[in-house]
Amino acid sequence: MNLESARQDMLDRQLAGRGLRDPAVLEAMRRVPREAFVPAALRASAYDDTALPIGEGQTLSQPWIVALMIEAAGIRPGDRVLEIGTGSGYAAAVAAALATRVDTVERRPALAARARATLERLGCGNVRVHVGDGTLGWPDGAPYDVILAAAGGPDVPAPWRAQLAQGGRLVMPVGMTRRRQRLVRLVRDGDEYDEQNLGQVRFVPLIGRHGWSDRDEAPARARCDAPPMSLPQCIARAAEPLPAPDAADFGAHFDRYAGRRLVLVGEATHGSAEFYRARAAITRRLIEAHGCRIVAIEGDWPDVATLDRYVRGKLPTAAAATPFTRFPTWMWRNADMADFLGWLRRYNRGRPEHEQAGLYGLDMYSLAASITAVLDYLERVDPAAAAVARERYGCLSPWQEDPADYGRAALDEAFRRCEQAVLAQLRNLLDKRIAYAAREGGASYLDAAQNARLVAAAERYYRAMYHGATESWNLRDTHMADTLQHVLEAHGADARATVWAHNSHVGDARATESGERDRLSLGQLCRERFGAGQVLIVGMGTHAGTVAAASRWGGSMEIKQVLPSRPDSYGRLMHDSALPRFALDLRDGAHPALRERLAPPRLERYIGVIYRPESELHSHYLDVSLPAQYDVLLWFDHTRAVTALPARESGEGADTFPSGL
Ligand code: SAH
Repeated sequence: MNLESARQDMLDRQLAGRGLRDPAVLEAMRRVPREAFVPAALRASAYDDTALPIGEGQTLSQPWIVALMIEAAGIRPGDRVLEIGTGSGYAAAVAAALATRVDTVERRPALAARARATLERLGCGNVRVHVGDGTLGWPDGAPYDVILAAAGGPDVPAPWRAQLAQGGRLVMPVGMTRRRQRLVRLVRDGDEYDEQNLGQVRFVPLIGRHGWSDRDEAPARARCDAPPMSLPQCIARAAEPLPAPDAADFGAHFDRYAGRRLVLVGEATHGSAEFYRARAAITRRLIEAHGCRIVAIEGDWPDVATLDRYVRGKLPTAAAATPFTRFPTWMWRNADMADFLGWLRRYNRGRPEHEQAGLYGLDMYSLAASITAVLDYLERVDPAAAAVARERYGCLSPWQEDPADYGRAALDEAFRRCEQAVLAQLRNLLDKRIAYAAREGGASYLDAAQNARLVAAAERYYRAMYHGATESWNLRDTHMADTLQHVLEAHGADARATVWAHNSHVGDARATESGERDRLSLGQLCRERFGAGQVLIVGMGTHAGTVAAASRWGGSMEIKQVLPSRPDSYGRLMHDSALPRFALDLRDGAHPALRERLAPPRLERYIGVIYRPESELHSHYLDVSLPAQYDVLLWFDHTRAVTALPARESGEGADTFPSGL
């Protein structure tokens, strides 16, 4: 195909074919010869549907992205445009075909010189190429009707906002990480900037005062207080080696954090024994030495309520099912968890109820069991109300076994009534708190109220699941935070809790790529609601070993090899410190130089109940900023899979979980 027809093909397929309609933008894209801007060896690919390398590690954006940005900016005749990141000069030339004048700034002098020559040769007289740090804008030419950025920064640089004219449009990639961004459009209205999200993109990083720092060009600041030190050396210096979790003094390491209301302990997988042992050891210490009486875990409320009765030496309620018999059973039905339950039962024995420590479930995958529990409770305290509740929950009963199907069905308007019914039931129960609690006590009331809350939350969750992963994820983590708050309230003003959940829940989502996609997390909500100073977030990680996980949702448990952590991950830095087991204090002020050097985002691995090593990067790694995500990191370089215990319906024999459950 010759270049002429390749260009026409690009216009038809890549632009018009994808819905780009603005005739002026299409005409500008037709007039500018893209081949003039690419290295000679790539001329034949000039109109391919991809970004192209232009030297110095930089790229010329894909035609579609250039056109999309220019269309979003709404460039009109008479406009003054500022472009940051000249690169080859191509986007500047397209903008210049529409605008009256274009200033474009490039930080790399060689690229700027080449672009200037190309633009001159093509007779683009209304473009000025400047060399400098474009994050400062170009004050001499301000105000601008349009500002375009061809490189992605962590935020919109303040000088750009200031240099944007009233009604002006700014289009730039914004991302918490250097490698992924979302394209945003800001429109200025007085001192307000109306923001719109145009979707996920990948640009080269914007490097400068108001952008990313250049790691390669500024190693001078990168010290951890001695001659040039590598990051693993800095980690080894700051790390505090830990004994094995079973050793008596493991828990004592955490005495220094005992003043916090909430200690959230994460884990990098749902199936590594060391993580279970470590959090059990921390929790034992917080209970024994520091008066913590609440252990809240990422398990469903009714199942955990049965464990709670066990550790308090009570029999299960008549209506309760055997706990944790559904996928993923090994997550709680394992040898380390059984040990902890046994310890807690012994600890509680002989103590009055208000001095005992109890277990509470934060999760909400128990629609059917929660409905049963509410009905069972009402049968005992208020049989007339039980009949009404049965009626109200009736609209959910067809979906109890397979609630995921509910979302699709719930699109139907008739289901509005279901939402109202479960909320009415919850309100009813909350209104009767005093009367009900007088009959059977506060603990039973809390249990019933939480189950009614769970039913209402689950109804919304399954409905939201149909609309998207983010909305349902947020409902789930909000439910966890609400549950934690209700449990704390039920225990009085100075109650403290230890929380066990995956790193993805306890970590602050604002420090991760998922937060970028508007996801929030339990840890973030706790910091926001209780104040960051009242919350300690502990993350845990591992380099390699074995893990208990399934290959797909609902699949059977396998013992899988954990691949060594990737060279570009935080995990590899920890591994290269050559310490087998340690705590790293990441809090503000603890190790300032290390913290600063660890802050630029890198990959972190998340293994849940599913592990797919064959697509590990895509399935399990996210970009995060570790020191913003956790207060403390616990590192176990080598970890082993948990020992799962069989699910038995009745409990005789020593190997049941724990005996009797
Ligand atoms: N619009 C260009 C795409 C260039 S890629 C084209 O059509 O070819 C982004 C460019 O931004 C790179 O050349 C990079 O060097 C430059 N850049 C990154 N940070 C910058 C900054 N702070 N100021 C100016 N240019 C910057």
